[in-house]
Amino acid sequence: MRKVIVVGGGIGGLCTAVRLLKQGYEVTVLEKEPRIGGKVNAKFKNGARFDLTASILMTPQIYTEIFEYAGKDYRDYFELLKIDPIYGVNYASGEKYNFYSDLGKMVKTLEGIEYKLPIRYLNFLTKSLEKYLVSKKYFLNEPMIDATEVSNKKLIKEFMSISPFKSNSKYLNSVIRNEQIINYMIFQSMYIGVNPYKNSNIYSLIPAISHVYGLWYIKGGFYKYIEALEKLIYDLGGNIQTNTTVEKIMIINNKVKGVISEKGDFKSDIVVCNADYPYAINHLLNNKKKCLKVNKEDYSCSVFIMYLGLNKKYNNLQVHNIYIGEEFKENIQMPFKGEMPEHPSLYLYYPSKIDDSISGKFESILNIMVRVPNLQYKKVKWDKKNINKFRNMILKEIEKINGLEDLKENILYESYLTPIQLKHKFNSYNGTAFGISHKLNQTTYFRPHLKDEDTKGLYFIGSSTHPGNGVSVIIEGTKILTKLIQDDIYKCKI
Ligand SMILES: Cc1cc2nc3c(=O)[nH]c(=O)nc-3n(C[C@H](O)[C@H](O)[C@H](O)COP(=O)(O)OP(=O)(O)OC[C@H]3O[C@@H](n4cnc5c(N)ncnc54)[C@H](O)[C@@H]3O)c2cc1C
Repeated sequence: MRKVIVVGGGIGGLCTAVRLLKQGYEVTVLEKEPRIGGKVNAKFKNGARFDLTASILMTPQIYTEIFEYAGKDYRDYFELLKIDPIYGVNYASGEKYNFYSDLGKMVKTLEGIEYKLPIRYLNFLTKSLEKYLVSKKYFLNEPMIDATEVSNKKLIKEFMSISPFKSNSKYLNSVIRNEQIINYMIFQSMYIGVNPYKNSNIYSLIPAISHVYGLWYIKGGFYKYIEALEKLIYDLGGNIQTNTTVEKIMIINNKVKGVISEKGDFKSDIVVCNADYPYAINHLLNNKKKCLKVNKEDYSCSVFIMYLGLNKKYNNLQVHNIYIGEEFKENIQMPFKGEMPEHPSLYLYYPSKIDDSISGKFESILNIMVRVPNLQYKKVKWDKKNINKFRNMILKEIEKINGLEDLKENILYESYLTPIQLKHKFNSYNGTAFGISHKLNQTTYFRPHLKDEDTKGLYFIGSSTHPGNGVSVIIEGTKILTKLIQDDIYKCKI
């Protein structure tokens, strides 16, 4: 039986482990932290379960497919609940709308804003869905390890058909032509951490798929999915070893031999590295050429998150809420210049709306997330004084939201996540939230590959590799990766 070591128990590492176990490999996951999950993690306080980062679950069929692949019924592992309205959106002007994936309800809401807006919205959905389907068929589901994959005529024609070079904001302006809705769409398309005023409109597919397929919630919070994967790995006979930092990937004569960890050596035929790709290149491999290349890449922004345990329930909040702040365009771009926003736009995650089991001894719990510069810029000092200043600025913005004026007085517990923690806890290179940036010239074949070109038996998976960042995208990536490994075995390349 071939032995596999997976370095890192993030979503990419865990899902690869499941697929390879199902294919009959002997798999051990080595995770440096006491708890697996990587950035999809949890904070436990007074019986409450705070999701650490990820909260938005799109395309649920991708989350359940891996259980089917393993021959299991996902319902024995976790419970999915549909969310609609998908967002409550608050504007600095005081206006507030609920937006739905239910088409009839969405059309009615938009008609109330501007009478022909529903027609433009439907046009947007059609066009952006096309971008999603083309991206999925020709890029996201393909290995992209060979230049010929991006140079064939059919693919270039399909790629050009979705007009990828227009910026996201220009595209939305031309299709939607309503500032409030444009800003709502722009905010969502930033879930991969690129500047929407400078980057491809392809990412408008993010709000489109949220509206088309809806948003979902896992009972008990997002971290329940990691617990479900952990159970699945054990059910399939896999091994997970936490508190184990890998220090080097062992390579002899261009062939992987296993890893060296603080707890000893682990020999294997295959190593799948789920630790963030640029970190792995710089620290786990001795390859100066690759370091030079990866260090020159453009990186996504980072985030600052406040976790609040509250003494009150806020009925006017939905599960997912967006606050579009003043001078949206200027402020939303500041992190990409290395600066903190002065009037931050916010994402508010309020799982207590749908889940009584999550709040513990608090009346309810709330995460507030703001995009901030990554550590590459070195302009922001994440010390106590600055964190407190930024926290106060955020709470001042929150007071502008109808119904949340008294939030500050109802905080019983408060903690934060900064780019520094993303860097040190998860080895997220430059403390980014979303890895190597998804600029067009850093996607598909031009993004770090799933397979190392120089070393037999060495593979990578995660936010900074193809197909890219986001839980469902990475889960899909593990499908491509498993097929690559199987093909290499079949062709005796390992
Ligand atoms: C704030 C925030 C919000 C997000 N929201 C969403 C969302 O709503 N929906 C969504 O789909 N996605 C979201 N994402 C993106 C999603 O969380 C990530 O894309 C995904 O979790 C990354 O998974 P990964 O496989 O790259 O592994 P990572 O999460 O990067 O995990 C890598 C693992 O490797 C371990 N490791 C590193 N170095 C070593 C070593 N030397 N030895 C052993 N172990 C090591 C780390 O500790 C970590 O556990 C969000 C991300 C952030 C940061």
